[in-house]
Amino acid sequence: MTTVVWGALTDVGKARQINEDSYFAGVRLFIVADGLGGHRAGEVASALAVDIVSALDDQPDPISADELEATVLAANSSVNERASQDPTLAGMATTVTAISINGDQAVLAHVGDSRCYVLRDGAMRMLSSDHTLVARMVAEGAITAEQAESHPQRSVLTRALGSEPSVSVDCEEIPLRNSDRIMLCSDGLSSYVPQDQITAMLGEHADPQAACAALVAAANNAGGPDNITVVILDISDVAPAIDTKRAAAADVYDPEAPLQDARRAPASRSAPNAKAVRARGRMPARAIAWIAIVALIAGGGLFGLKAWAKRSWFVGVDGNTVTIFQGLPTDFIVSLSSVKEPTSLTLDQVALYYHPRLKEGIRADTLNAARQIAQRVPRTSEASPPPGIPSPSPSGSRT
Ligand code: CA
Repeated sequence: MTTVVWGALTDVGKARQINEDSYFAGVRLFIVADGLGGHRAGEVASALAVDIVSALDDQPDPISADELEATVLAANSSVNERASQDPTLAGMATTVTAISINGDQAVLAHVGDSRCYVLRDGAMRMLSSDHTLVARMVAEGAITAEQAESHPQRSVLTRALGSEPSVSVDCEEIPLRNSDRIMLCSDGLSSYVPQDQITAMLGEHADPQAACAALVAAANNAGGPDNITVVILDISDVAPAIDTKRAAAADVYDPEAPLQDARRAPASRSAPNAKAVRARGRMPARAIAWIAIVALIAGGGLFGLKAWAKRSWFVGVDGNTVTIFQGLPTDFIVSLSSVKEPTSLTLDQVALYYHPRLKEGIRADTLNAARQIAQRVPRTSEASPPPGIPSPSPSGSRT
């Protein structure tokens, strides 16, 4: 039985206020999506795309290339429609790179510049093609691959999910071999850590979760200018059936249990003989808060902690109301959060796939950033705008 042992990690990086990346790790399906556009609701686009494509993981049968492509196309339509219906989400788009492990072969579907690699016999091979301007320039011979790596326009995409009513999806079948190590990542890793360094680090860390942690740390050491997401799959005992496990080291690096998707059946029902843990999305804000709390107690004590909490914001839920809080999304001896601004949005008006994200709290560094996040909270199709959320302060200051 093909055994898949996976690790996954996402991190906001060192320069961004919001993590716009999303990922999914299921029984046979693994996805990385990198939401685009800074203030253009990238975090909503990537979460929506991952939500739609990940539904395929519920089926017990192998996922065909046609099925995967059709689902990515459906995600494109949904993101595009949502963006055109809701002015706060206008222009949102995302990359999506999804791989389904179907026993002795895999199916890859890809749009954008997130990447899929396979490490086989010590050599890295990129399985996806970047849909970027510089990749096109390389293909046309205008610049070299080396020049592309540091080209100032290297993040300009020629294709993204949701930006147009239709999109062309790269779809490929890949025969698997024993000891293949597959890595999906957002460009927050691949643009800032050289490929030979990634290859070396994948060779150094046998545990896939430890490898994810090391790669995220390397991207942060390189400045962490972008959100960073890495999903690593170790393939062994290649055969037609499949068994999926989360890496043992996951507990060490993920302070909180992965979010369970309440809307779906447990993974064990999806695929016979598969014992998978589903993990979604991002480093929970709560986990980040706990790490910060531990660090602060070691350093400055409760006084420093309270001072830090006063400079933090998050969008969460108060009772049934979407609310902007000042503080940290956790309770620790004393309450570290206070209600700042309730919105007129209630939880039942919020798209179901966004509930877990709100319940864990979406961190922001400023009140303005929190207000922007609140305005972009995706709604159910019945609850259309106007949202009635307090508008950002008129100062126009960038946050
Ligand atoms: Ca990115």
